[in-house]
Amino acid sequence: MTHLGTAKDLGQKEAIEKTIEMLKKTLEGYSGKTKLILENSAGAGEIIGDDLSELAEIINGVRTGFVRTGFKPVPSDAIAGICLDTQHSFASGYDWRDFENNLKKIDQEIGLENIKLFHANDSLTQCNSKKDRHAHIGEGLIGQEAFKNIVAFAKKNEIDMILETQHDRVAEDIKILKKFRDK
Ligand SMILES: [Zn+2]
Repeated sequence: MTHLGTAKDLGQKEAIEKTIEMLKKTLEGYSGKTKLILENSAGAGEIIGDDLSELAEIINGVRTGFVRTGFKPVPSDAIAGICLDTQHSFASGYDWRDFENNLKKIDQEIGLENIKLFHANDSLTQCNSKKDRHAHIGEGLIGQEAFKNIVAFAKKNEIDMILETQHDRVAEDIKILKKFRDK
């Protein structure tokens, strides 16, 4: 799994093309079982991959076509999809509190089938704040109700979740998520 970094002064369009090219270069001729997934970002500055339609464009670009000649084919499933970080997406304007609409938006932009993993983090900062600040589950602005829905969705679709909250009370976070899962 990787984050994609920032476009800086390259410009968004060119940065996306460059990202596709680099990922192809990394994956060309790859035949292993491990798959690559991309993580969405919180969206500060000229960051790439805060917008899920951008990630979709990159993934589709890697799966199809060739950016430059001389590339060996990239196995179409070498890039499996995305790790969706709940905090980063919230910070980028994906409002988990309005669960059904948010899911619809994600589906339109990238397709729900491309979610291969969740990073489960509540958010210290507002929706669309563009700031990467994780909070313990239920103690941030995403809140417990939203996480109930996220866990139910992950369970139904057999998507694993990884916590990235502070270590001090991560056991408590796990307990909360398991309580939602086992309902
Ligand atoms: Zn993350």
